[in-house]
Amino acid sequence: MLFNKRAIVTGGSRGIGRAIVKELAAKNCSGIMFSDIAFINDDSEACAAEIQQEINNSDTKIYAFKADASSLKEAENTVAAAVEKLGGVDILVNNAGITRDNLLLRMTEEDFDNVIKANLKSVFNYTKAVLRTMIKQKYGRIVNIASIVGLIGNAGQANYSASKAGVIGFTKSMARELASRNITVNAIAPGFIQTKMTNKLNDDQKEALLKTVPLSRMGTPEDVARVVTFLCSENADYITGQVIAVDGGMTM
Ligand code: NAP
Repeated sequence: MLFNKRAIVTGGSRGIGRAIVKELAAKNCSGIMFSDIAFINDDSEACAAEIQQEINNSDTKIYAFKADASSLKEAENTVAAAVEKLGGVDILVNNAGITRDNLLLRMTEEDFDNVIKANLKSVFNYTKAVLRTMIKQKYGRIVNIASIVGLIGNAGQANYSASKAGVIGFTKSMARELASRNITVNAIAPGFIQTKMTNKLNDDQKEALLKTVPLSRMGTPEDVARVVTFLCSENADYITGQVIAVDGGMTM
């Protein structure tokens, strides 16, 4: 249980991020601020209200904040808003991410840079922005959503796999840097999870991918979210610097 814990989740309006927000609420966090770049219909308040209604738990207050995770300034603004609304930040989940897939011969410089900024620089931005608060509190739980392609690579995803491998390296360095401050930093490497991101794949691609999953199904956003809340719970107090694959056995 995460009673009285206050959390920030980046990219929380849909997909894995939304499941993380709801799972943190189910574990009784007192307040959750999630950020997003666009929001469905560009309406952050409506999105927060919708999730607040879905969680059916008035003890957890849900707030939404429009911010581009690629920008340090906007990450700082999100953290300042979270501190003001929630009174502090105990948990940071760096979840926001994008794909711009192409074979390297056709990949543009812009697609490379944008993926690195949205997936890797965003993790630097939010971690840096939240650090002073966590150090002052002498407590923090940071979970970074990486990907198994950051471990094993993937043709057509040089930008994405480089960004996720970067997240894994960043996670391990931060775990070493912050352990003495009672801040743990771990990464989750999801495999093939059912969200808008994987909806882009056609049926043939999905079928081929499923053949590589020993548990023979796509993962759900909730499969990932449950591991996030475990890593933020006291059951995981002695775990830091780890990368946990949530991939139905794709990598082992
Ligand atoms: P998704 O459904 O596409 O959702 C991505 C979320 O990130 C959206 O809420 C989006 O906001 C937000 N976002 C994107 N760029 C942002 C930015 N610059 N600033 C703030 N928010 C931003 O993706 P998902 O499948 O849930 O993926 C979540 C995370 O899991 C990502 O890091 C992804 O790389 C990772 N992952 C996913 C899979 C998979 O199979 N789905 C596998 C491995 C890893 P808007 O709605 O405003 O655009």
